[in-house]
Amino acid sequence: MKAALFREHGGAEKILYEDYRDPAVTPAEVLVRVRACALNHVDMLLLDGRFPPPEGLPHVNGCEVTGTLEATGAGVTGLRAGQRVIIFPGFSCNHCEYCLRGERTVCLRYGYLGAHKDGGYAELVKAPAANILPLPETVSFEAGAALPLAMLTAWHALVAQADVRPGQTVLVQAAGSGVGSAAIQIARLCGARVMTTVGSDDKIELARELGAEHVVNYRQQDFVEEAKRWTGKRGVDVVVEHIGGDTFERSVYALTRLGKLVTIGSHDTHWGRLDLRHVYSKNLQVMGTNLGSIVELQTVLDHVVQGRLRPVIDRTFPLEDARAAVQHVLDRKNKGKVLLVS
Ligand SMILES: [Zn+2]
Repeated sequence: MKAALFREHGGAEKILYEDYRDPAVTPAEVLVRVRACALNHVDMLLLDGRFPPPEGLPHVNGCEVTGTLEATGAGVTGLRAGQRVIIFPGFSCNHCEYCLRGERTVCLRYGYLGAHKDGGYAELVKAPAANILPLPETVSFEAGAALPLAMLTAWHALVAQADVRPGQTVLVQAAGSGVGSAAIQIARLCGARVMTTVGSDDKIELARELGAEHVVNYRQQDFVEEAKRWTGKRGVDVVVEHIGGDTFERSVYALTRLGKLVTIGSHDTHWGRLDLRHVYSKNLQVMGTNLGSIVELQTVLDHVVQGRLRPVIDRTFPLEDARAAVQHVLDRKNKGKVLLVS
């Protein structure tokens, strides 16, 4: 098959479009012909070596995949060749303490498609049959590929972790990102009011369309001051944070008493300072989250079918142009998801 892989770490120039070994399917796995695969921030960490692929190089990125079933392993039942599918990207062992507690996203042997195994920047990809959901006819391959990481993570952060309630106020960092554009919609679906941040004015309209009531250009305005002003000096109930550094530190100052900050990524830096006085004196909660469950992915999919959630797609590139797609994301030119299609 053809794949867009890398043999050494670096920038977009390291992505090579060439022949690569076909995935070998075990009895419990399926082979999927990739129709769409979304790019994610983690792809860039794998590529530049900040998060080296655990199975070594060469490596094929791509966590969010839709396609058609090409073949099924000998032990697989209930799935048929040709079927439209979406792949749940999380792998768990089913045996460790955390899996047995039903908390598979913190499995001791946790991994995900495109990081711990070769992913979807390819014509073919394999996955455990247990990770396959049917993709409804009304959801395009492109829209489906925007769900399994970005929208699922935002869903788990707001619904399962922060437990957002109607009437609460939520600050979503970076409306133009995959996670941000999903989080705005999900918070609105929960009945919350949303403010968000953007790094350039051309993303303000998108943020408003998605349901944000107040949009702050963080390069021109102080988002903490704006959060205070927007809430009548009170502060917001929940912050969805995935930038790190100064944005993480200052996000805590935007919270009201009993507020919750959910950290779901570290796009700028893995580090962030915390003013502990604010945390203990206001009884704040700072919590982490990582992906979600396949049941939650089905829930997200149902909302997309019903038109209550809408994946935001910036643009698509053919698989052979993966290098240009990666550069587009590295240049932060995208508003929403960037996809490879074939
Ligand atoms: Zn486990």
